[in-house]
Amino acid sequence: MKRWIKLGLGIALVGFLILVAVFGTDSSHWFLRYTGANAESGTWYGFWSGFGGAIPDFLILGSIITVYRHHNCHVKGCLRLGKPVEGTPYLACPAHHPAHEGDKRSVSEEIIVLAHKAHLEREAS
Ligand SMILES: [Zn+2]
Repeated sequence: MKRWIKLGLGIALVGFLILVAVFGTDSSHWFLRYTGANAESGTWYGFWSGFGGAIPDFLILGSIITVYRHHNCHVKGCLRLGKPVEGTPYLACPAHHPAHEGDKRSVSEEIIVLAHKAHLEREAS
């Protein structure tokens, strides 16, 4: 619920700033100057060629962050990407996955063979 309140407040703030920029007089001059809306000739040319042109960049960055947050490990404070933990709705990185046994990068060939044999025995039974 708090998320929707924050989103609504953000939309209201952006709407307010647009209204101030469009209908304001001297008090909104700083906004028009800062965004470049009155720096060039023509209606809003300066805004869309400057500050407004960066809006899609913010959207792309936001979507990348959203996708990352959807796929990262569910352990609090862990920033790694995770994989599903079977039988649960959670994602876990290799360090936090319950099936993880030791450091996967320094495994000897014998351990890999033993793990493969154990997997085949589990599949057979
Ligand atoms: Zn993790």
